Amino acid sequence: MSTASINSWCLTSVSPSKRSSPPTLRPSVVASLNSSVSPPTLIRNQPVFAAPAPILYPSRRGEEMGKNYDEAIESLKKLLSEKEELKTTAAAKVEQITAELQTASSADPKAFDPVEKIKTGFIHFKKEKYDKNPALYSELSKGQSPKYMVFACSDSRVCPSHVLDFQPGEAFVVRNVANMVPPFDKTKYSGVGAAVEYAVLHLKVEYIVVIGHSACGGIKGLMSFPYDGTTSTDFIEDWVKVCYPARTKILAAHANSPFPDLCTECEKEAVNVSLGHLLTYPFVRDGLVNKTLGLKGGYYDFVKGSFELWGLEYSLSPSLSV
Ligand SMILES: [Zn+2]
Repeated sequence: MSTASINSWCLTSVSPSKRSSPPTLRPSVVASLNSSVSPPTLIRNQPVFAAPAPILYPSRRGEEMGKNYDEAIESLKKLLSEKEELKTTAAAKVEQITAELQTASSADPKAFDPVEKIKTGFIHFKKEKYDKNPALYSELSKGQSPKYMVFACSDSRVCPSHVLDFQPGEAFVVRNVANMVPPFDKTKYSGVGAAVEYAVLHLKVEYIVVIGHSACGGIKGLMSFPYDGTTSTDFIEDWVKVCYPARTKILAAHANSPFPDLCTECEKEAVNVSLGHLLTYPFVRDGLVNKTLGLKGGYYDFVKGSFELWGLEYSLSPSLSV
């Protein structure tokens, strides 16, 4: 156990900046769930599909972004003009794909149509959820006051609103590869920092829940990347390294276990590392000290259909002046 002095108080059992041992964690709830509720969708006041103009435009926010976008278009044009043969090849390829798609759609009326899927999905939501809950959506139009902030993986199988039946307005969600919370860092991780700051200081959520899951590709990467100075990805290796202490701990504790078992252990331990990282955010620590905020770890196993929830055990004590 280590004791670290942070601001005006001491944190025992967890020192996120130089942890030698992970927080003690205790499963508090184990439940089997079988939810089939659809996740909430974007709320729009106007029927987007009635618009005669193209639905999607590149968004422009200020000169800089517009400039970057224009530059990207220009460089693409330049590339195409320089590579005349590429242009010809690309045009031929587009024609071929279009023909294939037309053939496929005429041969199979159920062929996947991405635009149609979004359209019917929204119409279903609007008819079955939005129009049937005018009180809820009227209330949400005034603002949001979710009780939870949730970190979940981007994995398409683990949407927390679906799995935990969160309704619109109930959970402020951040999803990223392997549901990781990096330590407080204003430049490197400002995206996550902004979300935590907004959730804690402005929305005043009561709990932050970090949810790991079975068969996580990001954790598999964390456990298998060499980390020997070589890299094979632009972002992934560096990102999942956020929870590198989990890999170290699991490899030390279960050296002889089969790789899939190591990954399962790491999926849970990485949640603990993220909970430890949350303690590096001053406003999170303040919330814990004032007892307005709690931290929870979770694990969704979609193979077994089970969900575990546990608390972070820590103790706070006044700092000592020496
Ligand atoms: Zn994942």
